[in-house]
Amino acid sequence: MVKCQIEARGVKDPLVLKAMEKVPRHIFVPENMKEFAYEDGPLPIGYGQTISQPYIVAFMTEALEPKSTDKVLEVGTGSGYQAAVLAEIVKEVFTLEIVKPLYEKADVVLRELGYKNIHCRLSDGYSGWAEEAPFDKIIVTASADEVPQDLIDQLKDPGRMILPVGDFFQELVLVTKESGEVSRESVLPVRFVPLRHGKEK
Ligand code: SAH
Repeated sequence: MVKCQIEARGVKDPLVLKAMEKVPRHIFVPENMKEFAYEDGPLPIGYGQTISQPYIVAFMTEALEPKSTDKVLEVGTGSGYQAAVLAEIVKEVFTLEIVKPLYEKADVVLRELGYKNIHCRLSDGYSGWAEEAPFDKIIVTASADEVPQDLIDQLKDPGRMILPVGDFFQELVLVTKESGEVSRESVLPVRFVPLRHGKEK
């Protein structure tokens, strides 16, 4: 998976490649999907949601330029896989999920795998996690129409955020904050499930 799907497409950061090798993706997918866990695509995880394609997980992680000292916010815990990949590299991961059964499952799986630096919470990630802000890095794994202002406000200076933006046609947008300036750059066309807004379910 790492060589053919990820390195071959240009992901180079050794920390990211090592994390992708280490995290057991099959643990994060439903029982009936396990045989496809290392294939080159997204997979359903229930409740109309998906675990992203391995390459996209690696690409987004690398785009954040993750460091061992980073405090990271993730919006959209889903299976918990992306959070685990990040937690192999950074100091702490704070991850938010709006669908209760997904939150509960990911919390158990991550605890069973021994991740002590991942903190899960059930809430609408649109408004971020104010009590823990600011974050060195922010990753959103569901697509929004706009970059949520609360997330920009909760990003450290300097800081980096990556998220899919758009409706049917989406792009991964890299938002950087530096010396008080916020800039954005589209880096890859993608297809993510939409970010919901409102109460957790
Ligand atoms: N990072 C995940 C992929 C999750 S798919 C993984 O590695 O498996 C996107 C997730 O975002 C879904 O689980 C969905 O329920 C969640 N989501 C959608 N809107 C949200 C919101 N407003 N706040 C938090 N999570 C949200």
